[in-house]
Amino acid sequence: HADTAMYYAKNEGRDNCQFYNADLTLQAEKRMHLENDLRNALQQNEFYLVYQPQLDITEGNFQSVEALIRWQHPEQGIISPLDFIPLAEENGLIIPIGEWVLRTACAEAVQWHNNGQCLDVAVNLSPMQIKDSELVNKVLGILTETGFPPNQLVLEITEGALMEHNENTLTTLHTLRNHQIKIALDDFGTGYSSMNYLRRLPINYIKVDQSFVRDLLDNKDNLAIVRAMISLSMNLGFSVTAEGIETLRQAQVLKYFGCNALQGYYFSKPISAEKIHCLLNQKWSIQASSPNAIDHEN
Ligand code: C2E
Ligand code: MG
Ligand code: MG
Ligand code: MG
Repeated sequence: HADTAMYYAKNEGRDNCQFYNADLTLQAEKRMHLENDLRNALQQNEFYLVYQPQLDITEGNFQSVEALIRWQHPEQGIISPLDFIPLAEENGLIIPIGEWVLRTACAEAVQWHNNGQCLDVAVNLSPMQIKDSELVNKVLGILTETGFPPNQLVLEITEGALMEHNENTLTTLHTLRNHQIKIALDDFGTGYSSMNYLRRLPINYIKVDQSFVRDLLDNKDNLAIVRAMISLSMNLGFSVTAEGIETLRQAQVLKYFGCNALQGYYFSKPISAEKIHCLLNQKWSIQASSPNAIDHEN
């Protein structure tokens, strides 16, 4: 019956529409809850840090670790920084959270240093922290308070954050460098900044974004891009780290291209501070190998 069919179709449409709205409301509510929970997370001690080692290719051992934040939510379990850092950026909570990360990373690292494990520690800074006029004072204060040596601290700044630069950002970076703190440009290749601009920045390390590493061996264009990024960076005097290494083959090719350091699940997932000592006696020897070499392994 035509009328009945029409009746059903209309109602179905309306219902779908209602479901859709209900979905959006639910999402907005979830987000609001998460934001509320985020406000209390610091006081409730729900954050902790994990550390992922970076292999120095020449030495064949781990010389530094990157601190990565995790949120142990009381009901939802562990929440990824990808899901709450953007929220914290929007509402300004990233400032106290970022300070907590820096203080905790330095304090935990001092403990390993006391045990003779002298790894550098890299801490991620969000764009809002870099714009904070108190950043330098806060960093220096935390170094003094914890006793962590400034020349073993690396601050990771994304290429995107540096592109919204202004004179203050540049002054901040120079002041940090004058205090022996090192700077890494994170997620390199995703921000379209020119090499001509980058070479003027007081940067020590360039971190090739993991998206390039993931697709490294997929096609010749991609290989050419990564190779060019690495050699340009090196020629400008930066030390190059590649992140997201998941296979031996990726490691071999990146070594062949001249990368200085490698980070990724192939070597180690991020681990807790208590497990740092496991990294110390590890020795890795990666054979440089051209991308054209026939792969005998598979
Ligand atoms: P990032 O700084 O580029 O960190 C690298 C991310 O790649 C980490 O994800 C790490 O666990 C992941 N990763 C490392 N090796 C591999 C691999 O072989 N394969 C794959 N698929 N992934 C790998 P995580 O810990 O989820 O952090 C994501 C992002 O969240 C970070 O990217 C950083 O931008 C941000 N983040 C993490 N901790 C902090 C923090 O304390 N402060 C700020 N502002 N941002 C943070
Ligand atoms: Mg990073
Ligand atoms: Mg990165
Ligand atoms: Mg990233």
